[in-house]
Amino acid sequence: MVEGWRLGSLFGINIEINFTWLIIFGLILWTVSAGILPGAAPDASPTELWVIGAITTLLFFASLLLHEVAHSVMANSLGTEVSRITLFVFGGVSQMKNEPDDPMSEFKIAIVGPLTSIVLGGIFLGLYVVMQQLEVPRLYWSAMLWVGQINIALAIFNMIPGFPLDGGRVLRSILWNTWNSLERATRIASSIGRGFGYAMIGLGFIAMLAGALGGLWFVALGWLLSSAAASSYQQLQMRRTLGDVYVHDLMSSPVETIPQDLTLNEAAEEHFMRVHFTAFGVEQNDSIVGLVRMQDLQQVPRDQWDRVTVGEVMQQADSEERTINSDEEAVEAMMEMARNDTGRLLVTDHSGEVIGIISHSDLQRLIRVRGGLNGG
Ligand SMILES: [Zn+2]
Repeated sequence: MVEGWRLGSLFGINIEINFTWLIIFGLILWTVSAGILPGAAPDASPTELWVIGAITTLLFFASLLLHEVAHSVMANSLGTEVSRITLFVFGGVSQMKNEPDDPMSEFKIAIVGPLTSIVLGGIFLGLYVVMQQLEVPRLYWSAMLWVGQINIALAIFNMIPGFPLDGGRVLRSILWNTWNSLERATRIASSIGRGFGYAMIGLGFIAMLAGALGGLWFVALGWLLSSAAASSYQQLQMRRTLGDVYVHDLMSSPVETIPQDLTLNEAAEEHFMRVHFTAFGVEQNDSIVGLVRMQDLQQVPRDQWDRVTVGEVMQQADSEERTINSDEEAVEAMMEMARNDTGRLLVTDHSGEVIGIISHSDLQRLIRVRGGLNGG
């Protein structure tokens, strides 16, 4: 996943926004300021409309954020670590490092999000009623009404019982509890998620054919839901396929290295072109301090390759996102690569020393072989 910009942290959880958030912010600001508010308050000036529109949009995003924070705080209190929340198109994603341990934890973590949205919806709708009673200008209470309604809509949408939406997680926790099988529960809950996704895509297209452009939102949401459902299930299957394999079983060791003070020219000629690896360890004083990949070199313009050193472009080995302990499960390596959008990780031992490299293709090869042995 694309890294976001860090906004700050709340209860020890990093809050990031993805670049797609800006697009969605603009779209919603435009919808509110040019579409919804003018209808509700025809006498408002354009400046008023855009200022109140911006505040309304910010309140909407704050609501989304609180929904995600509620999941994360609950998850952290139940021992499922959430490392960060990323806000992007259609809301937020809380990145949990692992699955909840038991059905009850999953149920609590899932349900608390929609509950938060309902409470927020109630608060904004309450404000709307009070402001209307106090005869505050129509523009202001119309904004409150919209934020209140959208929070209720958010709660309802998220309670669709298709995994990985909150409602789908609630369903999975119930099935998990009933069948005592996480695998079976996930399979059913994510099939339903995919089903809802396809249904939304279908409905969206029908709406668009009928001339309602808003159908496009349904198509986009449906597509996101069905692909998220499919990938959640694949992830679980991967966990099963790679269940008893550890990072040290698959890593390449020892690591081929390049000295850190070599220029990019020298690194390319003496290493990348000679040995056909696409990544090397970076060495300084007999220990490995980082990882350098072909794409790290390619980010520097060619005419600077005789001045820039490997140490300047490498991925630091001390960053948690580039390393994994050799005793971790292989599936953890796979997840970490996906989270950090990288194809390789440095493998460390207990003392933190780099002892190997694990690559995405090593993992995929094993999945193919095992998948073949299991009859597809
Ligand atoms: Zn949620």
